[in-house]
Amino acid sequence: ERKLELVKKHINSYPDFPKEGILFRDIFSVFNDQTASEVLQELIADHVKSIEKSVDAVIGLESRGFLFGPQIANTLSVPFIPIRKKGKLPGELVRIEYSLEYGKDVIELQKDSLCGKSSVLIVDDLLATGGTMKAACDLIKSCGVDVAECFVIMELSGLGGKSKIPAPFHSLICYD
Ligand code: IMP
Repeated sequence: ERKLELVKKHINSYPDFPKEGILFRDIFSVFNDQTASEVLQELIADHVKSIEKSVDAVIGLESRGFLFGPQIANTLSVPFIPIRKKGKLPGELVRIEYSLEYGKDVIELQKDSLCGKSSVLIVDDLLATGGTMKAACDLIKSCGVDVAECFVIMELSGLGGKSKIPAPFHSLICYD
């Protein structure tokens, strides 16, 4: 609890960013304090080691999932795999389209990256409406792979995103 409070204290919040009405939670400000940054790494490692289901890869969501994914993958001694926005990954891809507040977006995964994997952990910095995380789960499940857990550092619980996620879900810090 004391450790979580320290991390929370270092997450800066910015009203009306990137647009009016959004209170933006900035995980980068934690990395600006070396102690808070180390404590966050410890909390993440403690949590991922406690996951009971087996995990044979860690999937990070662009872009801030990439700050945590490779570290978590090393902690669990498994590979790291990125899911990116349309047009960023080379090679043969699988993709899924999902709805945003206004319009649509697409996320992609390299086709052979899940070869031989049966169960993965997905990580991102923050869950808001849950649209991005749900799309990632659907994409992975469409490849015949189970999602052991969706893990985020921060959850905006007022938006109800968690109820959309078709897999076990865990957040370190929950904002009302
Ligand atoms: P969702 O799809 O509505 O759950 O939005 C989650 C995605 O948007 C994640 O990839 C987040 O990185 C990003 N996001 C939304 N709101 C915030 C915020 O307040 N801080 C940082 N990232 C955010």
